[in-house]
Amino acid sequence: SIVIGVLALQGAFIEHIRHVEKCIDENKDQYNAELSVIAVRDNNQLSKCDALIIPGGESTAMSLIAQRTGFYNDLHTFVHNPNKVIWGTCAGLIYLSQQLSNEADLVQTLNLLKVRVKRNAFGRQAQSSSRICDFSGFIPNCHDFPATFIRAPVIEEVLDPENVQVLYKLDGKDNSDQELIVAAKQNDNVLATSFHPELAETDTRFHDWFIREFVLRKLQ
Ligand code: GLN
Repeated sequence: SIVIGVLALQGAFIEHIRHVEKCIDENKDQYNAELSVIAVRDNNQLSKCDALIIPGGESTAMSLIAQRTGFYNDLHTFVHNPNKVIWGTCAGLIYLSQQLSNEADLVQTLNLLKVRVKRNAFGRQAQSSSRICDFSGFIPNCHDFPATFIRAPVIEEVLDPENVQVLYKLDGKDNSDQELIVAAKQNDNVLATSFHPELAETDTRFHDWFIREFVLRKLQ
């Protein structure tokens, strides 16, 4: 059976667990595989996992906890294994990235996703917002997903265009003409989003897509 772990050091991990549980509950006949989800706080739990979701929260705190508890090296090894499926949301995206353009000394990242990320990129006046996004370019029929941004990062630059594919951009008209990349994938096993699909109340379309397109496609 396939085990999806949710890193539970800090942040919005319960919401991710609930969304995955709801997907499994509602679609288990279609998934055609036995799936389960667990919270991950140590290497014993991590070693049971085939996939890992790194939630939103505070990347500085997440990084500090992982370093102090000695979990950093295990996490680093896990996420760099190309046979594992990884998804980072918001602080999770920051924690996965190779380069940070600000506050870089506060986070020892896992150095996986080949992008440069700017933390808190939407500025203080727009710390939190929900926008209806049309994700139908990559999620079938998903024209109206409520994406929640909370002091969200953006991907400023893709450092390895051969392996990293941009999935979604916001237009940057309020913010010079810089591209605001808020969703990307690397190869067939790493997904990163600036926003929080786990905060979309009962809407599990994003998680369902992650399970089908990454977890099942890669691991089944
Ligand atoms: N601003 C946070 C950070 O830098 C991320 C916010 C979030 O995950 N909602 O880690």
